[in-house]
Amino acid sequence: MASMVQAEVREVSSRSEGDLLIRVEDVHKYYDLGETKVHALRGVDLEIGGGEFVAIMGASGSGKSTFMNLLGCLDKPTSGRYFLEGTDVAGLDKKELAAIRNRKLGFVFQGFNLLARTTALENVELPTLYAQLPKPERLELAQRALEMVGLGERMGHFPSQLSGGQQQRVAIARALVNRPSILLADEPTGNLDSRTSVEILDIFQDLNDQGLTIALVTHEPDIAHYARRVIVFRDGKIRRDEPVLDRPRAAEVLRTLPTLED
Ligand code: ADP
Ligand code: MG
Repeated sequence: MASMVQAEVREVSSRSEGDLLIRVEDVHKYYDLGETKVHALRGVDLEIGGGEFVAIMGASGSGKSTFMNLLGCLDKPTSGRYFLEGTDVAGLDKKELAAIRNRKLGFVFQGFNLLARTTALENVELPTLYAQLPKPERLELAQRALEMVGLGERMGHFPSQLSGGQQQRVAIARALVNRPSILLADEPTGNLDSRTSVEILDIFQDLNDQGLTIALVTHEPDIAHYARRVIVFRDGKIRRDEPVLDRPRAAEVLRTLPTLED
């Protein structure tokens, strides 16, 4: 039994639980707008361990996306340090950052960001191109990722043939296909109705149960409480950092929600 669970963990994540995955020390971020400077992050300290499921909350403009972009190595802090699995990210050049993004980080965005003229399978296969694996292996990884999010039957569909929730599941499969150390999701349910949002959270809870580390940005408390830990940003600083007590199980909540009939 234990070895089965272990195999599942490897399936979704290259991590083992308990290790320190992310350490952020006194991070500041200024946006230079010529005349003025915006001080978007004002001294952020944070640690995230392997296997955590963290929700990052806060009002619009509080610095959530700026912080996620730093975690995702899409941007660099103006000052402070960021260690990802012990590596000081500030010391890396563009090429090394791109490699880290591809191998260690999975991204999910509000707008799905799928390629329109490309099937679900091809969308998910795309991040594996860097890995220089033979085509059949890449296809198998993409198929497995789509099966994990319940889309095994729709691999040949184009994004326009899929609902919003299905498109977001394709995006999650694409984020998982290289078995990242952490899944970073910025408002992933922002374009979805309530039931579909809970379906996405069900997938996140499921993946987290299998060992995947998740950081989810949301401005909605109803979404955040599905995580295990909630961090609240205000004016570029962390104001609260608390475990979630009595978090709901999305799978159970879904049973109480009406399904949309067409
Ligand atoms: P949130 O995601 O919580 O809404 P953001 O991180 O997007 O917050 O923004 C934090 C602050 O930084 C805001 O004042 C915003 O206007 C500013 N900001 C964000 N991105 C940029 C940018 N690319 N250039 C200039 N200012 C920015
Ligand atoms: Mg934002």
